[in-house]
Amino acid sequence: MKICFKKIFVLAFSLILIASLFLSDTNVSQAKTKASKKASANNIVIVLDPGHDTTHLGCHYENFEEGIANLYIAYYCKQELEKYSGVTVYMTRYSFDCPYGANPDSTAECLSSRVNFAKSVNADVLVSLHNDYDPDLDTSQSGAKVIIPNPNYKPAMCEKGAGLGKSILTQLTSTGLTINDWKLCPNGTGIVTRDSSNKYPDGSARDYYALINQAKTNNFTAIIVEHAFCTNYSDRINHLSTPEQYQQLGIADATGIANYYSLKLK
Ligand SMILES: [Zn+2]
Repeated sequence: MKICFKKIFVLAFSLILIASLFLSDTNVSQAKTKASKKASANNIVIVLDPGHDTTHLGCHYENFEEGIANLYIAYYCKQELEKYSGVTVYMTRYSFDCPYGANPDSTAECLSSRVNFAKSVNADVLVSLHNDYDPDLDTSQSGAKVIIPNPNYKPAMCEKGAGLGKSILTQLTSTGLTINDWKLCPNGTGIVTRDSSNKYPDGSARDYYALINQAKTNNFTAIIVEHAFCTNYSDRINHLSTPEQYQQLGIADATGIANYYSLKLK
């Protein structure tokens, strides 16, 4: 039954994706040429990054596949954000497969390509959408967190990431998710940074995640939203099991983004 449900689930979403691709005028190849026309002083460009793909797999546990879940959430987030005026929304991928060469040994290149795509469309912010997995299968790890740029090198990006992250977390907790007190940075707020041992040009510690440090180098802000833990029973059953639940998360992300930018509904 589980396999059957999963097949139906994937098939149904594939149909939605195909319909969206036909109805939408935005895909990765078209987006670059349209970006310059759409960007203006009053227009915010948001790039949503559904983390992973069928080549660069994310976490999987029981029936949960992160790359699929992240794509669902991104589509629903885009759909919701487009109800607002003054915003243009792109995604770094629109299908299950990697649009950047699909080389299994190229995770780093794939991430760089996602950042380069965001840069090419003049992104104000790159919001990478993920879900979490506790490597020790610690089922007590649950809830949402947002990884933001550290205060080093370009501190304004840390401030912006914190503001946007808090706004998104407020909406995610309204769906019933808790705040994750991340083991690697247990500060209780769900707004976290992670440093690398490498350095920025000014000698300060670089951000650990490539997406965040490369965006920072390219002068725009990237954040990583970790919605919920597939290894936590409550998170998985109540938030990561159905298209309706993914829609709820996507709407929460979009509302958080819209509130941060004071966007108005059309
Ligand atoms: Zn992930």
